[in-house]
Amino acid sequence: MKIAFYGTKPYDRVWFEPMGKEYGFDIHFIEASCSQETVFMAKGCDAICIFVNDYVNAGMIDTLYEMNVKAILLRSAGFNNVDVKAAEDKIVILRVPSYSPEAVAEFSMAMLLTVNRLTHKAYNRTRDFNMSLNGLMGIDLFEKTAGVIGTGKIGQAMIRILNGFQMHVLCYDPFPVEGLEAEYVSLDKLFQSADVISLHCPLNSDTRHIINKEAIAMMKKGVYLVNTSRGALIDTQALIDGMLEGKFGGVGLDVYEEEEGVFYEDRSNDIIMDDNLARLVTFPNMLVTSHMGFFTREAMQAIAKTTLENAYALENGLPLVNQVGREMLS
Ligand code: NAD
Repeated sequence: MKIAFYGTKPYDRVWFEPMGKEYGFDIHFIEASCSQETVFMAKGCDAICIFVNDYVNAGMIDTLYEMNVKAILLRSAGFNNVDVKAAEDKIVILRVPSYSPEAVAEFSMAMLLTVNRLTHKAYNRTRDFNMSLNGLMGIDLFEKTAGVIGTGKIGQAMIRILNGFQMHVLCYDPFPVEGLEAEYVSLDKLFQSADVISLHCPLNSDTRHIINKEAIAMMKKGVYLVNTSRGALIDTQALIDGMLEGKFGGVGLDVYEEEEGVFYEDRSNDIIMDDNLARLVTFPNMLVTSHMGFFTREAMQAIAKTTLENAYALENGLPLVNQVGREMLS
């Protein structure tokens, strides 16, 4: 199988190159993201392999189909960046539904602890022998109320971590699961009661801007918000307005609505044209990271393994256990 591997970074090759060889795959590593302009680079390949900030729209599906590309191998769990309906009956979509929920949950807690206890600022201060504590006061998480939106694999891992901090955990999910050390409540109740809110639901038509002006209005003053899920769960303008009003104790964003083309790239010498992103990074109680919740050795290894197993199953007519279909859209 010949695979066009888009958005290649050095750390992708570490895992995919040796494992791909073991499977006998011919992987063409391409640095460019998959887009309207670069889709033609997959000519002659059987599959394309893409990550979260590559996209495949309906027109590109047709192009891939005409080029006889049979599969889209997602190196991610989320599939909001592919037009799943357009791909039906044309191209198989395979994903990595789970690689290390703990990696993302642990990173969510790292973000929460950072924006609460401001360790990133303390680090910079003490390197400059500024030993002042002014402006660095946080809150105890012990016995506070956390709200988890989405209780799938990552949400459950986050609940276990929050339990470890002895927080009272509220959660919301239209498909509740039993046996969690957390109390399911309505979304409104969660917004009204939580001192800390962490987002772990997928991006779909129901969840787009689940954090909007109305939701923020319901939240407690001083609430902490962490989003390691997908950027468009939050209405950025509403978040900025909330920040300006002093609503939030702290906010951690590992994902951002308009992250495509910016995240994963070094733009330090560029003029940033996205005013909202430029504004977000200026808030002293905001931490923006570049969609890196997944980024652990264990997760990277598991992503490579499952992606290549998916390709192997397709090539050998085995059951496609990780196929993405239209029924998964809502
Ligand atoms: P999952 O499918 O195991 O869980 C998602 C949960 O969200 C499910 O329980 C589902 O019922 C629930 N859900 C669906 N609609 C909802 C709604 N309207 N409101 C509340 N909950 C709803 O997925 P997961 O593995 O836990 O991953 C969650 C998300 O994390 C992914 O969709 C992806 O966007 C994101 N993610 C981010 C990173 C990162 O590096 N930052 C890495 C992996 C995944």
